[in-house]
Amino acid sequence: MIPRPEPSRREFGEGGHPRPTIVRGDGASLWDDRGRRFVDLGATHGVGNLGASPPAVVRAIQEQAARLIHLGSGYASPVRTEFLEKLLGLLPPSFGRVFLANSGTEAVEAAIKIARSSTGRPKVVAAMRGFHGRTLGALSATWRRELREPFLPLVPEFVHVPFNDPAALDAAVDERTALVLLEPVQGEGGVHVATAEYLRAARAAADRSGAVLTFDEVQTGLGRTGRLFAFEHARVVPDVLVLSKSLAGGVPIGATVTTPEIESRFRGSHHSTFGGNPLACAAGLAALDLVVRERLAERAEKLGRVAFDRFRSLPPERVREVRGLGLMIGIELREKVAPVLAALEANGFLAIPAGATVLRLLPPLVIDAADWDRGLAAISEAIGGG
Ligand SMILES: *Cc1c(COP(=O)(O)O)cnc(C)c1O
Repeated sequence: MIPRPEPSRREFGEGGHPRPTIVRGDGASLWDDRGRRFVDLGATHGVGNLGASPPAVVRAIQEQAARLIHLGSGYASPVRTEFLEKLLGLLPPSFGRVFLANSGTEAVEAAIKIARSSTGRPKVVAAMRGFHGRTLGALSATWRRELREPFLPLVPEFVHVPFNDPAALDAAVDERTALVLLEPVQGEGGVHVATAEYLRAARAAADRSGAVLTFDEVQTGLGRTGRLFAFEHARVVPDVLVLSKSLAGGVPIGATVTTPEIESRFRGSHHSTFGGNPLACAAGLAALDLVVRERLAERAEKLGRVAFDRFRSLPPERVREVRGLGLMIGIELREKVAPVLAALEANGFLAIPAGATVLRLLPPLVIDAADWDRGLAAISEAIGGG
């Protein structure tokens, strides 16, 4: 067994919860230090869409590491160019500019700066229950009070409107609004799917007022919801798209994608030392290839449908609602989710919560159909649906 750190020495803010010690992964399987296998139904918090250590990404990292690990962004890099071309090639033609960072939060920060600078306006309209990260700018757009309160004051001029209420959104967006920031499916906030009507209203409000419409697809992007990007469901194209989590197959990366037109109005500068480093770009290139070649978005839609069919028989006295799109699924219980998570873990399945009462499923899109089936059966059993 791997020794655990001394209790007096541990990571900052780690609650000391007894969690399994994970030492290895393959596809949707994770093994602990005693050789026990778990099926990961949480895709390591939405990062592992392609599984734990996708071989094509591993090879790309190994080859790039041997060639060149880091390069300042002031120099041209073939792998960065190739990655950006590949990414933009998967997006509508209106997009033509990408800022690369190292995390979702940083990519959101860039979106906030791009919107404020390019419009010369201060106000940001975000949604209740939204999650956009934890640095002070991104945290100002995040809704949950417990995450915000210890760090007040946050950045001024952020307002939150009820999610899926087109009229409230429209009323909040005015000529002082720089940015309308939404998740097409709210992840951390409990897996709430935006209606097409809501996203269309956001598009119209931004067009009317001159605000920058930004979709935070850090969790929903790259095939998770059954389309390559979640905005494709409603066919509403934003001005800025924020990506991260699974974009480089598990290597830290964040991307803020926007239009040449918005770039032309941007004043000031924005930069990151590690953003767009060759290692992340090589991993990202391999990851994008894999998502497209293996048609993982279609797979997410298909396996998602299997789950929704199955969950129809969950008992209404335990389950309030099942929500989601593709392989991004939330089961809202009428009770706390923690005991269900513990029961699943004891059975060899790792899942994650979204708030106190929602069981969140974000399995790797490459999960074996048989593992998925067994996982769904284990969930039904843990919830009490037989
Ligand atoms: C995870 C997440 C973030 C933050 O990403 P980090 O990489 O943890 O900084 C932002 N937005 C959404 C929608 C997320 O799911």
